Amino acid sequence: MSNAFPLPVVIVGGGFSGAMLAARLAERGQASVVIDRSDAFGLGVAYSTALAAHRLNVRAGRMSAVADRPADFVDWLTARHPDQADPNGFAPRRLYGLYLRDRLAAVEEARPDLIRRVTGAVVAVDGLTAVLASGERVEGRAIVLATGNPAPRTAAQGGRIIADPWARQALARVQPGDDVLILGAGLTMVDVLLMLEAQGWRGRAAALSRRGLLPRAHGTRHDAPLALPPEALTGPLSARLATARRLAKTHGWRRLMEGYRPITLDLWRAATEVERRRFLRHLRPWWDVHRHRIAPEIADELDGLIASGRLTVRAGRVLAMESTDTSASLRLATRGGTEHALSAPWLIDCTGPGHDAATAPPTAALIASGRARLAASGLGLDLDAEGRVRHADGAPDPALYVLGPPARAAFWETVAVPDIRQRIEALTERLAI
Ligand SMILES: Cc1cc2nc3c(=O)[nH]c(=O)nc-3n(C[C@H](O)[C@H](O)[C@H](O)COP(=O)(O)OP(=O)(O)OC[C@H]3O[C@@H](n4cnc5c(N)ncnc54)[C@H](O)[C@@H]3O)c2cc1C
Repeated sequence: MSNAFPLPVVIVGGGFSGAMLAARLAERGQASVVIDRSDAFGLGVAYSTALAAHRLNVRAGRMSAVADRPADFVDWLTARHPDQADPNGFAPRRLYGLYLRDRLAAVEEARPDLIRRVTGAVVAVDGLTAVLASGERVEGRAIVLATGNPAPRTAAQGGRIIADPWARQALARVQPGDDVLILGAGLTMVDVLLMLEAQGWRGRAAALSRRGLLPRAHGTRHDAPLALPPEALTGPLSARLATARRLAKTHGWRRLMEGYRPITLDLWRAATEVERRRFLRHLRPWWDVHRHRIAPEIADELDGLIASGRLTVRAGRVLAMESTDTSASLRLATRGGTEHALSAPWLIDCTGPGHDAATAPPTAALIASGRARLAASGLGLDLDAEGRVRHADGAPDPALYVLGPPARAAFWETVAVPDIRQRIEALTERLAI
C-alpha cells in the first residue's frame, strides 16, 4: 500500500449506513468506493418509499445524519419543507430520503473525487477486494459490509404469496375488496397496511405473529429518560424484569425505555451468551414493540382499522402455508394448542428483514473459508467490539468491518439512525487516514 496514493475504503451497500459513512469519510479527506446493487444511493428500503403516509418512526429532531450537527435534518426541513420542520414530529420518510441524497451530493461537490459510486451486486470478498457479479473487482485498504435490511425469508412460495412486500409493485395485484393474511404484526405490517390503504384497498386483514403484539406508539412529546437504579441493570434477568415492570408502572414505560437507550450497548456487552440468548428468546418481542415505536398518527390509523373490524391480530405459530391459483391458506397453532385453518386471496410476508449471513453472498463464502463465523447469539456474523469480522478462530480480521443492522451481534441496537450514526463516527475515526 502506498502512502502517496492510499487505497480507498470499499463500502458494500449504499443505503443510509454506507452512503453516510462515505460522506463522513470524505469530510475527513478519506476516499471511498460505495457499491450498491441498486442506484438508489442513500435511500435503501427505508427511505425509497414515495408514500406520504410512510412516516419516520423516530422524531425529526433525532434523525440528523451527522453526529456533531444534531439539528441538521430539522434545518434541512426548515429550508425545504417548513411545514414538516417540527423536531417533535415524524416527517415522511420520502423527505428523509431526499435529505440523505442532498447531504451525499453536497459532500461530493465539496470534496470532489473522494466518493466513487459503483452500481452492482457484490458476490464475494477476496482479501481486500470486493468482487461484483459482473466480474469487476474493487480493491480497498479496508472493506465495510453495510448490506442492511434484506428481503424477508419466506418459508413458502406460490402465486398468492407476496414474499417481498418491499419489492416494486408487490402489492399491485391486491384488489380493493381482497382480504389478506399477513405474517408478522410489526413495523413491516404497518407499512404494508398503509400502502394498501393508499391504493384504495377496503378488504380485511388478519395479522399473525407468535405473540400477537403490535408496535406501541410514541407519546406526543419526547419522554425524559428515567435514571435506572442498579437493580434494573445487574443480577438475574428475571429480577431485572420485575424491577423494570415496577418502574414502568410508576414512571411510564416510555420513560423506562428512554432510560435504557444510552446504556443498551453496555448492557449487551456485559451480558453472557446465555443471557443474550435468554433475552432474545423470551424478551425480544416485548423489547422490540416498546423500543421501535410508531408515530402517534399512524397508531391512530391502526386503531381505526382494528375498531372497524378490518384488522385482527392473532397469536400463534404457523404450521404450514400453501398457495393455489386463487388463494393462500395456512394452519395456525394458537398458544393454547388449538389449530385454525385460515385462507384469503393473498398472504403477505411481513416478518421483516430476513437476515441470513449463513447463506447470503458474500458472507456465506467468508464463513466457508474460515474468514468469518456466526455469532452464538444467532444474530449474524460474530464481530469484535469495533465491528470487525471474527475469523473461525475468533481473531478479528484487521480490515473487514460490518456496519448497520447486520452488526447486531456486537451492538444489538444498531438498526435505527441514532444508533448507526454513532457507529459511523467510530468507524470514521478508525478508517480515515
Ligand atoms: C421500512 C423501514 C423503515 C424504517 N424507518 C426508520 C425510521 O423511520 N427511522 C430510523 O431511524 N430507522 C428506520 N429504519 C431502520 C433502518 O435500518 C435504518 O434507518 C437505515 O435505513 C439502515 O440503512 P442501511 O444502509 O444499514 O440498510 P439498507 O437501507 O437496507 O441499505 C443496504 C443497501 O445495501 C445494498 N446491498 C445489500 N447487499 C448488497 C450486495 N451484496 N451488493 C451490493 N449492494 C448490496 C442494498 O441494495 C441496500 O441499498 C427503517 C427500516 C425499514 C426497513
